[in-house]
Amino acid sequence: NNGEVLLDVSNLHARYGKVEALHGAGLQVRAGQIVTVIGPNGAGKSTLLNAIMGALPTSGSASGSVKYLGQELSSMDVEDRVARGLCLVPEKRELFATMSVEDNLQLGAYKRKKNGEANYMDQIDSVYALFPRLLERRKQAAGTLSGGERQMLAVGRALMAKPQVLMLDEPSLGLAPLITKEIFHIISELRKTGVATLLIEQNARAALQVADYAYVLEMGEPVMEGPASELAANKQIIESYLGFA
Ligand code: ATP
Repeated sequence: NNGEVLLDVSNLHARYGKVEALHGAGLQVRAGQIVTVIGPNGAGKSTLLNAIMGALPTSGSASGSVKYLGQELSSMDVEDRVARGLCLVPEKRELFATMSVEDNLQLGAYKRKKNGEANYMDQIDSVYALFPRLLERRKQAAGTLSGGERQMLAVGRALMAKPQVLMLDEPSLGLAPLITKEIFHIISELRKTGVATLLIEQNARAALQVADYAYVLEMGEPVMEGPASELAANKQIIESYLGFA
């Protein structure tokens, strides 16, 4: 793939107290790509996304290089990384249950509003186009949505910040298979809007189907990488992550 390198992470270490959870992870995300990181429970996938975002819990710390369009971000706070074009949808979707769908979406554009951008709501039409269900439910409290709709809202809210790289932590977690399929379809639709995606998944099969490029993370270390279609056909990957179906 020859798109421009948007995100370039190298030699990333992260620790919680004395325990090191990432031992020198690296990855690249190019324009127009869907990149996935697969790996078992506890491999450090969430830690990787949080370290890239600068959003580790206070017990955590990270070192290493996170470059975005060539610029080093590792000493910037989360808000500045968002302003540069990174956005993370965490595993806990952190919606405001009593607020309406539309108000939750508006919160995603909060920083743009604060920065005095007059057209800070300009993404809402494309979010509603991507998620017609959110448009139908826009006056409804977020807490009344189904699990799949809440995931859609979390992604939609992130898109309101107009990211160039969207990071998704386990978007299929807790969702029924049909809804998971819909979410993955939307992720592939997103690519058409020019947003690159970095996707963390335990559902390796679905992730490798939708992704262009993939990394395998085991025990805090990258152990394999390659075009997603190649990894999906790799005997070792099939045995470890894809079962025999
Ligand atoms: P999962 O899919 O279960 O979230 P993961 O691959 O995302 O797994 P992480 O959640 O990043 O893995 O966890 C990596 C390691 O860091 C694990 O050993 C975990 O116990 C530890 N860890 C994660 N978060 C914390 C924390 N807040 N404090 C201490 N240790 C943590």
